[in-house]
Amino acid sequence: MLTPLEVEQLSNEFEAKTPQDIIKWAVDMFWPQIALSSSFQTQSTPLLHMASQIRRDILIFFLDTGYHFWDTLIFREQLASDWHLNVLDLYRDTRWDHFARGRTRTLPLEDPDLCCFLHKVQPMQKALKDMKAWISGIRRDQTANRAHAKILELQPDGLLKVNPMLNWTKTNVQQYREENHLPAHPLYEKGYRSVGCMPCTVAIGLNDDERSGRWKGRGKTECGLHTDMFQHKKVAELKIDFKIDTSEVKE
Ligand code: SF4
Repeated sequence: MLTPLEVEQLSNEFEAKTPQDIIKWAVDMFWPQIALSSSFQTQSTPLLHMASQIRRDILIFFLDTGYHFWDTLIFREQLASDWHLNVLDLYRDTRWDHFARGRTRTLPLEDPDLCCFLHKVQPMQKALKDMKAWISGIRRDQTANRAHAKILELQPDGLLKVNPMLNWTKTNVQQYREENHLPAHPLYEKGYRSVGCMPCTVAIGLNDDERSGRWKGRGKTECGLHTDMFQHKKVAELKIDFKIDTSEVKE
């Protein structure tokens, strides 16, 4: 178990290391209680490629929100098969089924924060409960929030979040993809530079900001996995943030 000071010192040292060095350190340090999360889009492929070369059977969490593009599911299956990835799909807590099913069409549009909390944040919190480390693929150049992230982040519950790609840019991703002949998500060439759930993703122009097609025009840039929302385990703790009355569900 690393102390907060050790985490801070290592994180600073890792600013000069390659993503592969950081992934290798994390795998050696925390195996088998370590998992990687991936949304299986074009810019996810370098991290998936590197991690699978370091440890083929590393556990990879994919959040199956039920709102994905068909193309994303096909791409996930293709990569998992071609690269022999150890992918585990994560789903919404069944206690929310009745509530969410009654709002399948409206929830992403009327209350995307609640929708992301139910379909992404809670399932990931549950999956990481017995893990010591979580490798994520976020980059500083993606959003204002991510610009302030650290390579190692100790969560209040002791989980260590490892962000090996943090210093990489869009250009680094592109170069690595070309050098290693990595495949692209089928929607990439159709203008979907960052692909999330279908109700919350639109195609963008070539020169637009990579994530500008996510929740476009709705004042939201993050799903909550990489914000303070992730520290809250219960809907009640965030009730004030949600627009829809959640009182019919007891957690
Ligand atoms: S991205 Fe949209 S559809 Fe997906 S979980 Fe978030 S709000 Fe729901």
